[in-house]
Amino acid sequence: MSKLIIANWKMNPRTLTEARELAKASDIEGLIICPPFPFLEEVGATIRKAKLGAQDLFWGEGGAYTGEVSADELKDIGVEYVIIGHSERRQNLGETDEMVAKKIAAALKAGLKPILCVGETRAERDAGKTGSVVQRELETGLFLTKNQKSSIVVAYEPIWAIGTGTPDTPESMLEMVEFIKNVLNPQSRALTFSVIYGGSVTSKNAESFFRHKEINGALVGGASLKGEEIKKIVEIGKKYESR
Ligand code: PEP
Repeated sequence: MSKLIIANWKMNPRTLTEARELAKASDIEGLIICPPFPFLEEVGATIRKAKLGAQDLFWGEGGAYTGEVSADELKDIGVEYVIIGHSERRQNLGETDEMVAKKIAAALKAGLKPILCVGETRAERDAGKTGSVVQRELETGLFLTKNQKSSIVVAYEPIWAIGTGTPDTPESMLEMVEFIKNVLNPQSRALTFSVIYGGSVTSKNAESFFRHKEINGALVGGASLKGEEIKKIVEIGKKYESR
């Protein structure tokens, strides 16, 4: 299995023209590009080799949900992956584990592949709560779907490492992969999953993570806003296998 690299553009860039240019510059096999909602269709029409992902969805199937976007609407315009439970949504928008569970269920129902984000704050890590936080986010997030045959991506993103320039270490990530497998494997035989790392990944540190076959890829924020940089990261990933 090759590495899975997800580009999370967050609320960038500012214009459709810039989004089109960035999509052209980032169009490489092995990359999943997750632009803001208004740019999804245009990015989808621009890319030939990369795949399309969204940054969120809502669990309702349609109707009176002003401002929300459904899984079916995303699927209909060619979206294949969807980020769910990003810490920026959990922290700034009050997204709960229960909401995350409903979003995961909606994504799977529509045939989208969910990328479930989990990870602890600096304070939680310092208090020795990393394991309990990640376990809660995994178990509650997958509660509604645990008995159904499903395939997901788990992105471990320690919140203190996101956008700070200070990534976690590959050694600590390897321990986390083991931990996540121990939480998920006994829970459900119907679930298949891969585990990727997120938090200040760049072309300078990507290799230190990707050389480990247990680390299945990366979720990349800031560094995905430069075409050359994200392409380098994907190329580094191609040198290594995943398990
Ligand atoms: C992210 O947005 O999930 C992320 C990991 O951002 P960055 O790569 O900028 O730390």
